[in-house]
Amino acid sequence: MTKKTAKIIIAGAGPVGCYLGQLLKHYGFNPLILEEHSEVGKPVSCAGIVGKDVFSDMVLPPTKKTVLNVIDGAKISYNGSGFLLKRPQVAFIIDRAAFDKELSQGLKIEYNTRLLSVDRSGPGYRIKTTNGEYYADLLIGADGPNSKVRKSLNFSHNMKLYKGLQYRIKMEVPDSDRVEVSYVKPFSLFTWVIPEGKGVIRVGTICDKPIAELDRFIKEKNLKGEIIEKNAGPIPIGTCQLVKDNAALVGDAACQIKPITSGGIYYGMKSAELLAEAIREGNLTGYERKWNDEFGQEIRFCLLARYIMENMGEEVMQKVFDYVKDNAPLIERVGDFENHSTVFWSLVANPRTYPTIGNVLLEVMTKPRILFRLFRRK
Ligand SMILES: Cc1cc2nc3c(=O)[nH]c(=O)nc-3n(C[C@H](O)[C@H](O)[C@H](O)COP(=O)(O)OP(=O)(O)OC[C@H]3O[C@@H](n4cnc5c(N)ncnc54)[C@H](O)[C@@H]3O)c2cc1C
Repeated sequence: MTKKTAKIIIAGAGPVGCYLGQLLKHYGFNPLILEEHSEVGKPVSCAGIVGKDVFSDMVLPPTKKTVLNVIDGAKISYNGSGFLLKRPQVAFIIDRAAFDKELSQGLKIEYNTRLLSVDRSGPGYRIKTTNGEYYADLLIGADGPNSKVRKSLNFSHNMKLYKGLQYRIKMEVPDSDRVEVSYVKPFSLFTWVIPEGKGVIRVGTICDKPIAELDRFIKEKNLKGEIIEKNAGPIPIGTCQLVKDNAALVGDAACQIKPITSGGIYYGMKSAELLAEAIREGNLTGYERKWNDEFGQEIRFCLLARYIMENMGEEVMQKVFDYVKDNAPLIERVGDFENHSTVFWSLVANPRTYPTIGNVLLEVMTKPRILFRLFRRK
């Protein structure tokens, strides 16, 4: 028997589901959110670094109460060489659990309610959960990388789930305002050290064997301290259908993540704005079009760049890295925390890049897999 009926049900009370809930409430709707856990924000699967735009470029900007540290630059390393990027106030380190909780204030959320499956029923959806059955006219999947809404309703997608792991370590460290990023092979994967502040660092990685990589990295850097929390989760990289009948996906459920750095909070929240706008206009399919206009090109470009980086030989990658290192001042000037293609186009505009681009092109020509992918994209 159907337990509850709602015009709009959002599966998942992560930052994107909650932000969408706030926007819909703001536009006069009354959405119901179903969340599998007993509270919002826990467990944390995030390094908690966000660009300043998360607090300034939103329709309903979150407060900065959850900011723990302000980042003024980064040290980027590969294969034993590195360089510094100085960019005052480029990013913030947040308490991610508190951030999500703030976004959830005042929303109607049913906890301990895991969505199990969804079936089409009349104009809407019958939703089976661990807490009984629900019915919604409009169903939104904001239920993260392993979205049940995506799977149950067969949204088409082309994605890969990468493994993320992070330890919060309490140790004797001077407070710092600089993040460290060390690329590991293949080049799209990396390990980070983030100063949370008050003697805590976040050491994490996105790579194929995250436990072994973190152990190796912690030994290499001689990071001695107490691990006070472990955060892990999958990171979906790729593309996904956004709308199907009266259902839509948003956030990690829809692969709305930056392909180069794997940050998903900003893109997910901006995508929630586009979805809320489409719902307000009574034109759900408009969401997919708006999203393509806003993010489609950037995501496609960065996915291709990521694919090329993953398939480059080490020698060429070293040349690319050295070139980027030599051009650190340019990146400091034009780099955008959220839109990574701006750096690429600025480098391309400089004729001194051409030998490096030539090396990459030569490498691409000798790799049929990359060529095939390029032609398929055409
Ligand atoms: C190790 C790691 C580090 C990261 N670091 C960063 C970073 O520094 N900056 C950044 O921007 N991004 C980062 N990300 C990505 C970021 O965490 C995600 O992009 C972001 O959490 C997406 O938000 P979301 O609301 O779409 O999904 P989620 O945060 O995954 O929220 C989904 C919600 O749905 C609930 N749910 C799932 N399934 C069901 C179900 N069947 N029924 C009911 N509820 C369900 C979950 O409990 C959860 O509350 C990182 C990810 C990982 C794994």
